Amino acid sequence: RAKQEGRNAYRFFRIEMNQQDDRQLMLETALRNSLETGEGIEVHYQPLFERDGGRLHSAEALVRWHHPLFGSVAPGDFIPLAERVGLMVPLGERVLQMVCAQLAAWQREGREPVPVAVNLSARQFWHNDLPGQVAAMLEAHGLPPGLVGFEITESTLLDKQQQATKLLQGLRDFGCSLAIDDFGTGYSSLSYLQDLPVTTLKIDRSFIQRLGEGERGSAAIVAAVTGMAHELGLSVVAEGVETEAQRRALDRYPVDLLQGFLLGYPVTAARFARSHLASRQHANA
Ligand code: C2E
Ligand code: MG
Ligand code: MG
Ligand code: MG
Repeated sequence: RAKQEGRNAYRFFRIEMNQQDDRQLMLETALRNSLETGEGIEVHYQPLFERDGGRLHSAEALVRWHHPLFGSVAPGDFIPLAERVGLMVPLGERVLQMVCAQLAAWQREGREPVPVAVNLSARQFWHNDLPGQVAAMLEAHGLPPGLVGFEITESTLLDKQQQATKLLQGLRDFGCSLAIDDFGTGYSSLSYLQDLPVTTLKIDRSFIQRLGEGERGSAAIVAAVTGMAHELGLSVVAEGVETEAQRRALDRYPVDLLQGFLLGYPVTAARFARSHLASRQHANA
C-alpha cells in the first residue's frame, strides 16, 4: 500500500512539475512576444531624495510587465525568467532605451529632468561593449552625460575584478553614476570598494528594516558601512525606507540619500513628472 501511495504521490508530483513547466513556457513565450512588440513593458520611476534638505536628487528606473492574460508579473518573477531563457539582454536594452527616450521627452517638454539609474543584471553588464552601447544611446537621444546611471549588485562585480574595473571606468567616462545595489546582502568584500570606480553604495532594505526595529547588530553594520563609504568618498543611499521610525534611526549615520515608500513609490513617467519634476515654464513665471 505504501508503494501504491508512493507511486501516486510520484505521479501527482510529475503532473505538478509539468504544469509548472507549462506555465514557465507560456510566460517565456509571452515575454518574448511582449519584447518584440513592446506592448505591456513599462518603466516606473522611484524618487531618491537628499536626506538633508529633502531635495529630489534622482530616480531609479524599475521595469514593469503587464500581460493581457497573466496580468502584472512582478520583476522578481520575470527577471530571473528572462535571465534563464536568454531574454535579459534584450529586455535590459529596451529599458535603457525607454529611459533615454523618456529623459529626452522631458527635456523637450521643458521639464527639468533628474538623473535616472537603471538596474543592470550580470548578463547585461558583461555583454559585449556596454560602455559603447551606452554612449551610442546617449548620443542618439541627445542626452548630456550624467543623466543616466546604473545599479549593479556585488555578486556581478566580484568575479572578474579587473575586467569589472575597466568596464565601470568606461561607464564613468560618460559621467554615469554607478551604485552598488543591495549592499550587504552579497559576498561583501569590503576591500574591493577601494578599487572599483563606483560612486554610490545602496544599503539593502533588510538592514534599514532591522535598524528601525532597534536591532543592535544592524545598527553596528549600518554605522560601519556608512562610515566607511563616507571615508571612501562614496555617497550612501538607504533603500526601502518605509517608516518614520526608520528615517529617524538613520539620522545618526552619514547617509546622503533616502529612497522608499515613505518618501515616494515607483510611479509611471507621467505621474513622476507631475509629482516631482519642475517645469521650466512654471519656474520662470
Ligand atoms: P532593486 O533594484 O533593489 O529595486 C528596489 C526594489 O524595492 C523595487 O522592487 C522597489 O519597488 C522596491 N522598493 C522600493 N522602496 C521600497 C520600500 O520602501 N519597501 C519595500 N518593501 N520595497 C521597496 P521591484 O520594482 O519589484 O524590483 C525588484 C528587483 O527587480 C529590483 O531590486 C531589481 O533587482 C530588479 N529590477 C527591476 N527593474 C529592473 C530592470 O530594469 N533591469 C534589471 N536588470 N533588474 C531590474
Ligand atoms: Mg536597484
Ligand atoms: Mg536595491
Ligand atoms: Mg533589491
